[in-house]
Amino acid sequence: MKAHKPRILIIYTGGTIGMIRHPETGTLRPLDFENLRHHVPELHEFDYEILTHQFQPPIDSSDMTPELWAQLARIIIDHRDLADGYVVLHGTDTMAYTASALSFMLRGLDRPVVLTGSQLPIGILRTDGKENLINAIEYAAATHPDGRPMVPEVTVCFGQHLYRGNRVTKSSAEQFNAFTSYNFPPLATAGVNIHYNLPLILPASQTPFEPHLQFDNSVIAITLFPGIRHQTIEHVLQMPDIRGVILRTFGSGNAPRQAWLTRAIREATREGKVVVNITQCDAGSVAMGLYETGHQLREAGVVSGGDMTIECAVTKLMYLLGQGLSPDEVRRLMTTSLAGEITEE
Ligand code: ASP
Repeated sequence: MKAHKPRILIIYTGGTIGMIRHPETGTLRPLDFENLRHHVPELHEFDYEILTHQFQPPIDSSDMTPELWAQLARIIIDHRDLADGYVVLHGTDTMAYTASALSFMLRGLDRPVVLTGSQLPIGILRTDGKENLINAIEYAAATHPDGRPMVPEVTVCFGQHLYRGNRVTKSSAEQFNAFTSYNFPPLATAGVNIHYNLPLILPASQTPFEPHLQFDNSVIAITLFPGIRHQTIEHVLQMPDIRGVILRTFGSGNAPRQAWLTRAIREATREGKVVVNITQCDAGSVAMGLYETGHQLREAGVVSGGDMTIECAVTKLMYLLGQGLSPDEVRRLMTTSLAGEITEE
């Protein structure tokens, strides 16, 4: 058992939750953490020690970058002796990317890192921000009776649910339930009581905590559509500063059966580029053996991204390319679960 009250570090990166409306232009812009604290007096009611840290300046999450992911991870790592759990306040627009990035960078941390935000600023009466923030703090502080953290993973808390962070997609710009985890059930659901889906929660890692904070952004995502020009695909695949390609294919991982496509992919693969197949569908998985239109991609060297989200696949590819691994090793790890992000076949 811990000898002290649970200590939760709230890191405010920006996002709608802490924004106010500009009096002249009417646009929303991020304000400081004091604005948030002012609107959530309930923060004093927790029997936890609440520590805070704020990005300087706080950002709209559309301005997020891999450098800022690393900065965020560094703040988390540097507070390991002070915090039992973390709440990251973040804009919803790119929250799924940041959650994925953190899940890879912080493997082995063994502490809850809960991202949350809101669709309406916390200063607005109908805000969803207050409930999200309060639930997120509860999740970050929750422990088993023996003191072990209940959810030692990177998660996203939004609406009623707590999701694995690298499984979510922002699915609504309108509803308070802004996120969906199409291919993986919620880790917890908050009603009158909080119900944890314990068998799904990743066990505390056995591997030592060795964070890697480098990303290589020499990647691109291509969404296929009927009629896509071969010149476009060939041009992109031949670009010398592209090392990884996420191909967003049809259905269970299918693409047009055109010789130019397989030729261009084979050539790119031979040059050491990593081409990963994920589906344009929200739910379900790539199965390249199912149709001839998928099989040809595998023959050309494409690896399956399984049921990973686009946010996760892009982030994971940048993360692996940033580790200085061989193309074959990157291909192997893209199909392997590192942080519960893919359902392995
Ligand atoms: N544009 C905002 C952001 O992502 C939207 C939000 O927070 O919901 O920072």
